[in-house]
Amino acid sequence: MTRRISIFGATGSIGQNTIDLIARDPDAYQVVALTGGANVAQLAADARRLNADIAVLADETRLEDLRAALAGSGVEAAAGRAALIEAATRPADWVMSAIVGAAGLEPGLRALQQGADLALANKESMVCAGPLMLQAARAHGGRLLPVDSEHSAVFQALIGEDLSEVERIIITASGGAFRDWPLEDLAKATPQQAATHPNWDMGQRITIDSASMFNKALELIETKEFFGVDASKIEVVVHPESMIHALVGFNDGALMAHVGPPDMRHAIGYALHYPQRRTLPVERLDLVRLGALTFRAPCDQRWPALRLAREVMDQGGLSGAVFNAAKESALDAFIAGQIGFTRMSEVVEEVLNRLSSQPGLIDAELTLDTVANADHLARQEARQICANG
Ligand code: NAD
Ligand code: MG
Repeated sequence: MTRRISIFGATGSIGQNTIDLIARDPDAYQVVALTGGANVAQLAADARRLNADIAVLADETRLEDLRAALAGSGVEAAAGRAALIEAATRPADWVMSAIVGAAGLEPGLRALQQGADLALANKESMVCAGPLMLQAARAHGGRLLPVDSEHSAVFQALIGEDLSEVERIIITASGGAFRDWPLEDLAKATPQQAATHPNWDMGQRITIDSASMFNKALELIETKEFFGVDASKIEVVVHPESMIHALVGFNDGALMAHVGPPDMRHAIGYALHYPQRRTLPVERLDLVRLGALTFRAPCDQRWPALRLAREVMDQGGLSGAVFNAAKESALDAFIAGQIGFTRMSEVVEEVLNRLSSQPGLIDAELTLDTVANADHLARQEARQICANG
């Protein structure tokens, strides 16, 4: 039986890895929607190759280019936010949520609301609106499947286990580009230096977030929301080799680790075939050649983002949406050369402090509208702070 699938963020790193897997077995899938940000050539080429029903570009101004690139293919072309949301409501059996940032929340939520299984790479969805995502999956019968490598690892380690017997969850962090830099050099680090990851080949934004540990900070919150465990049970360990992705510790002292090469096609393929396991084109580890794996505690001074994530987990409510939006805005300013690398966490902390004291904002009922409002206010505050350097 062919499965109807859609890929949001198809032109990005996760999207392309997903397409790599799908394209190996084209008869098994009917591609409904492929979406991209602004890369017309990539989106059109993949939509043609996979014979998608529709290709959607987020950038409205490029619609004519997309139409031209798809001429004669039979693939429908559309562009803009409304078209993206419309594509997300088209019936599909399995949907990959791989847009970067809070922009990925609504398309993923809409897919869940039409009953699709949602493979979730977009961690921002859980950070901004975890309970909405879980509730939509429950209400409409779709499964929410983690694609972040750490969360896929935890998900797999928990199969057949009782959550009440879990003592701790440890997610690993490579430490990113500046793991071993002298602390005093960090303030001068450039976006280009931050966007060079030692182990993983990922999009620019998540790679910089790895260097600042904002990525791991988001993942701490994602772990809490996804698995419903207390924040005090979740730990981060720096593991430079990126071979162990996460570990789950049980009350009898057992520690179950998920070990594999840093290749996202494992977690994507696991979510694609769940609950089965199928042969995947990932390297098989040779433990003897690997020799040793090392671990160290994360340094609070180097990575203040982790402390901020703990504050967000304590606060709950809409603080995740504020945190994420402030981070996205600070990251924009860093990429644009407006602020320095270490300034990003200061900006986020300041936005969190300012907005936490605004009555009714963090505690408002969680809906798409209140998330959008918190997101908007946080970006506004962050932009204002960044404008002053
Ligand atoms: P990427 O930058 O390579 O790709 C992002 C995709 O989203 C692209 O298709 C881009 O065109 C699209 N996009 C960007 N802004 C958009 C907008 N406003 N509206 C609609 N589409 C937009 O990013 P990535 O590395 O593939 O990451 C995607 C998501 O997966 C992120 O949430 C990231 O944190 C998560 N993730 C990525 C990896 C990885 O290995 N790359 C691992 C774990 C989790
Ligand atoms: Mg991850």
